[in-house]
Amino acid sequence: MKKSTTKHAFMPKMYCNIFGHDYQVSKKVTYHVKEYTCSHCKKQLTTNSNGSLIELTPKFKEINDILERIHNSRMERSKEKRLVSSIY
Ligand SMILES: [Zn+2]
Repeated sequence: MKKSTTKHAFMPKMYCNIFGHDYQVSKKVTYHVKEYTCSHCKKQLTTNSNGSLIELTPKFKEINDILERIHNSRMERSKEKRLVSSIY
């Protein structure tokens, strides 16, 4: 554990390896599905149908887009104004 030069310019990924990812919600797809982005390395995760976190691949991004569209159209059809305003 002897590192004489601790460089300030940490690779973001290395930072995450040491301290762990710092995921923040970047997008709410539905009530249960959200997309998360790591504020350091920009790695993205999403919630799958089982409710566990998985890597956000282009395929899942597509699925989420569809889910979001379905979710939003359901919102429009429902007459609950409260739900609609809670999106914003
Ligand atoms: Zn990260």
